[in-house]
Amino acid sequence: MKLNKNKTKILITGAGGFIGGHLVNYLFKQGYKNIRAVDIKPLKSWQQINTKAENLVFDLRKLSNCHKVSKNINEIYNLASDMGGMGFIENNKALCMLNVLINTNMLLAAKRARADRYFFSSSACVYPLEKQKTSKIDGLKEQDAYPANPEDGYGWEKLFSERMCRHFREDFGLETRVARFHNVYGPFSAYQGGREKAPAALIRKTIEAKISGNHQIEIWGDGKQSRTFMYIDDCVKGIDLIMHSAIKEPINLGTSQLVTINQLISLIEKIADVKLKRKYKLNAPKGVRGRSSDNSLIKEYLNWEPHIPLEEGLKKNYQWIKQKMTEKC
Ligand code: NAD
Repeated sequence: MKLNKNKTKILITGAGGFIGGHLVNYLFKQGYKNIRAVDIKPLKSWQQINTKAENLVFDLRKLSNCHKVSKNINEIYNLASDMGGMGFIENNKALCMLNVLINTNMLLAAKRARADRYFFSSSACVYPLEKQKTSKIDGLKEQDAYPANPEDGYGWEKLFSERMCRHFREDFGLETRVARFHNVYGPFSAYQGGREKAPAALIRKTIEAKISGNHQIEIWGDGKQSRTFMYIDDCVKGIDLIMHSAIKEPINLGTSQLVTINQLISLIEKIADVKLKRKYKLNAPKGVRGRSSDNSLIKEYLNWEPHIPLEEGLKKNYQWIKQKMTEKC
């Protein structure tokens, strides 16, 4: 697809959040000039603000607001979502399902604005629970999403909205693209307050243990649950590649470097140069037993897959969180 980056008008929703904020910066670096960034949070609470963008505050659960922000836009990246780590999504299923308002109204607005392309950020939480019951696990393939039995609340909404993207494409000719993100981490993600994900939460706890001298760490579950973690730079590059590809069906966007939570902590301990006594909280939210990304399809289509090693990404994330925590002291 030939794009005139000077003229293409881009809308990024959820731009005050972790991935949206990085995507704004990434697309400016790629040469795009017209980016509208939208989030429900007041500007002072945005994780990052790029002053070259048109930064707007709107609640995208309302259709009229979706129409306003989509006016004259060519490409829409819809990342707005009320979400967080396992602790948040297991305890806020209704809030997660209400994201359907954002995702439905944004599709309607994209259709009315005759947008050229529409990107939806889906999740590995769409995969059925019964295919994720062991720690040592093969990567999930895209077709594994059916027969459906996703993560309750958050996963069901993502799967429903994926299908709406498909039907808007088939019935109304809106060019939709859908990526299923697998655990994204990096600087500017939440690291405290209840919405943080495992890498940021464990880094924060490690730094707290170092500062206090109480060398213990609380772990949710028995630490044997496994995951893959994708560094943010891979994520934004993948979004760009998928958006401008011919991939019409939902596709995995994640690494295939599978680690247990215990192995993740060992990597963080090495970076922090500390050894912590592990206390396992077995009744805490912990999600599925094992989850990995099968990357055959993305490699076939794009000749690329997320590849930044976990050790490398964690170092950068550790330094950022440490800086944030010491700024406060
Ligand atoms: P985030 O919470 O940092 O960003 C989401 C942003 O959406 C927030 O800034 C929030 O204020 C905004 N938002 C919420 N409700 C809104 C509304 N009504 N109107 C406008 N904005 C609203 O999350 P993130 O990690 O950047 O995730 C971005 C997208 O990627 C989400 O759709 C999420 O479900 C998806 N995703 C993320 C991960 C991950 O590991 N981070 C994994 C799978 C899927």
